[in-house]
Amino acid sequence: MHEPRRWLRRRGKPRWVEPDVRIDLGRVPRDVLDLCERLRGKGKRAWIVGGCVRDLLSGRDAADWDVATDARPPELLKVFPRAIPTGIEHGTITVLGKDHHVEVTTLRGDGAYTDGRRPDSVQFVDDITADLARRDFTVNAIAVDPEDGKIIDPFDGRGDLGRGLLRAVGDPLLRFSEDGLRVLRAARFVATLELALDPATEAAIRPTLDTYRKVAAERVRDEWIKAMKARTPSRAFDVMQRTGILEVTCPELVEGAGMEQNKWHAYDVWRHGMECMDACQADPVLRIAALLHDVGKPRTRAWSDKTQDWTFYDHDRVGAEIAEPIAARLRFSNEDRARIVALVRFHLFHYEASWTDAAVRRWIRRVGPDRLEDLYVLNAADVRAKGRDFEADLESLASLKAHVARVLAEGAALSTRDLKVNGRDLMTELGIAPGRIIGEILDALLDAVTNDPAVNEREALLTLAREILKGA
Ligand code: ATP
Ligand code: MG
Repeated sequence: MHEPRRWLRRRGKPRWVEPDVRIDLGRVPRDVLDLCERLRGKGKRAWIVGGCVRDLLSGRDAADWDVATDARPPELLKVFPRAIPTGIEHGTITVLGKDHHVEVTTLRGDGAYTDGRRPDSVQFVDDITADLARRDFTVNAIAVDPEDGKIIDPFDGRGDLGRGLLRAVGDPLLRFSEDGLRVLRAARFVATLELALDPATEAAIRPTLDTYRKVAAERVRDEWIKAMKARTPSRAFDVMQRTGILEVTCPELVEGAGMEQNKWHAYDVWRHGMECMDACQADPVLRIAALLHDVGKPRTRAWSDKTQDWTFYDHDRVGAEIAEPIAARLRFSNEDRARIVALVRFHLFHYEASWTDAAVRRWIRRVGPDRLEDLYVLNAADVRAKGRDFEADLESLASLKAHVARVLAEGAALSTRDLKVNGRDLMTELGIAPGRIIGEILDALLDAVTNDPAVNEREALLTLAREILKGA
C-alpha cells in the first residue's frame, strides 16, 4: 500500500509520478459498492470519500461510509426515493443500505463563510478534486474510485498518514477562519488517529479562536465525547490546552497547568487530570468526570507550614460546584450531568481496615449504590495517575470493594424502601396525618438501621418511630 512515489526523469524537468495506488475493494461493504453501481447505472459518477478512506488506508475499521457523486440533489432523490434528505440543501442524503447508513453528497465547492460554521451557499461542481479541496485535513481529502479501487489524493493525504501528520488542506488560517469546528476536529483527530499536528496547522489555531468561539456547545460536547474514545484522549486535550481552545471552552481546567501538587504526586494538577482520564478506560462520560475530578484543586490550594507542603482541603466539594456549571454549559443530559458531578464530589476516599460495617454502609448511602462501580474505576485511575507509590492505594481500594460486597451480600438497607415499615404503616400505627414528618421519620429510621441492621424489624421500628415522634 505504501510504495514510494517514483522519480521520473525524462528530457527536461524531472517530475514526481504517483504510483498506481489502489485499495482492496473487498474491504468496502457490499451495500456501499452497490449504491455506487446504481448511480453509475444512471450515467453518474461516484467516489468513496472522507473518514472511511482514511481509516481503510491506515488499517482501521471504518465506522461510517460517505459517497460523493456528480448527481445533483433532485437526481439523487430520484435514484434513491426512500433516502432521508438529511441535508438536502447542501446536497446530502442518507441512504439506508442493508447493513450501513451511507451519506451521499453531491460534489461541491463551498461558498463564503460568514457564520463561522456553515458556508453561506454551496456551489455544486463536477470535479472530485474541487470537492476534496473543501475538506478539512489532507487525510480526510482522499477519494476512492469504486470501480477499480484507485485512489485520488491531490493533497497527499496518504503521504501524511505515512508520516503520521495531520495537516489542513490549503491555507490553515483560511480554513480555520471559515469554520470554527475544524480546530476542535484537529485536536480530536490528533488523539483518535494518533497523528502529530503539522506545525503550520497548529500555529493557525490561536489566531482563529474568534471563529471557534461561535461553535455551538453541543458540537463541542460531541467532539469531547469522540475524543474520549481515543486510546489516549490527553493527546487531544494537550492540543486544546496549548493552543487556547480549552481557555475558551473551559478556563477552569487550564488553571491547573503548571500547578505543583504535594509530595504524593509526580505530576502537576493538569498532567494528573490527563493521566487519570487516560487511565479511565471506561465510557466517555466517566472519562469526562476523570478530566474534571480535580477541577477544584487550583482554587483550594494552600500552603501548610505544618507539613511544609501544599494542601487542597475540600477540593472535592468545591470541584463539584465548579463541575456542575461546566457540564450544564456543555449541554450534557441531566443524567450525565448528575453522574459527572457526583463522581467529582465523591472521588476522594481513604478506606482503612478500621472502617466498621456501619461506616461502610454510611459511605455507600452517601455516594449512592448506583455509583459504586464508577467510583472504583475512577479511584483506580486517580491513584495510578499520582505517578508514584500507588500500590498501597490500590490495595486499599481492593479491600474497600471486598468490604462493600460483604455488606451488600448481607442485604443492608440502603434506602427507605428497604425498611420493614413504610409511610402508610406510620400513619395507621402512629395516627399521624400525611406530611413532611413521615419522610423525616423514615430517614431517621434508615439512619438507625444503617448503624444497626438488627433494628430493621417491624415492631422495633415502630417503637423507635414513636420515640422519634415524641422528641420531634
Ligand atoms: P469520524 O466519522 O471518525 O468522526 P470523519 O472524518 O469521517 O470522522 P465526518 O464528520 O464523518 O468525519 O465527515 C466526513 C468527511 O467530511 C470528513 O472526512 C471530511 O472530509 C469532511 N468534513 C467533515 N466535517 C468537515 C468540516 N467541518 N470541514 C471540512 N470538511 C469536513
Ligand atoms: Mg465519518
